[in-house]
Amino acid sequence: TGARVHIVHVSSAHVLPLLAAAKVEGLAVTAETCPHYLTFAADDVPDGGTEFAACPPIRDAANREHLWAALADGTLDLVASDHSPCAPEQKAAGDFGRAFGGVSSLQLGTRATWTQAVARGFGLAELSRWMSERPAALAGYSDRGRIAVGLRADLCAFDPGAEETVSAAALRHRHPVSPYDGVRLRGSVWQTWIAGTPALARIGESV
Ligand SMILES: [Zn+2]
Repeated sequence: TGARVHIVHVSSAHVLPLLAAAKVEGLAVTAETCPHYLTFAADDVPDGGTEFAACPPIRDAANREHLWAALADGTLDLVASDHSPCAPEQKAAGDFGRAFGGVSSLQLGTRATWTQAVARGFGLAELSRWMSERPAALAGYSDRGRIAVGLRADLCAFDPGAEETVSAAALRHRHPVSPYDGVRLRGSVWQTWIAGTPALARIGESV
């Protein structure tokens, strides 16, 4: 139709050849995946572990590697949080048939993606492109998303070597429900700035 299209939350690798073909054809299509699809595999989801219920669902480990390959070759453009707050009761006491499909990723997405990216040989330049530059461009912001002279100072001080085990109860998310509970993640955000103004200091520290 000529319409501009963005595909959200790509979870299944089955769509990757379609996306790649559409891009070769020159169609105006972009696509994203999310940190939980890049981190977890269906095989690792425990019975009744509805904190892993996402929409669409988390697939197997081989599928996850296809998603990483698609990020590397540009078939997938970016990584979006799909931050989806969900109260414990919405997780339906382990009943996947009734559980709300949603994972909160806002506080964890950068570190989760970084943890997996490092293990596959990617660097901070790729992380920044997938989670900052391309999301800004998709949203139509030409004044941010990269570190460059004249652009808005939206910045993050990130320690790429730090490691920390996630405690769901300690997150600032509204509900203490997270498939990342107990997962060891690499990287630590020390400070963020929005348009040059400090926005958030590391938990426990003052701005
Ligand atoms: Zn969503």
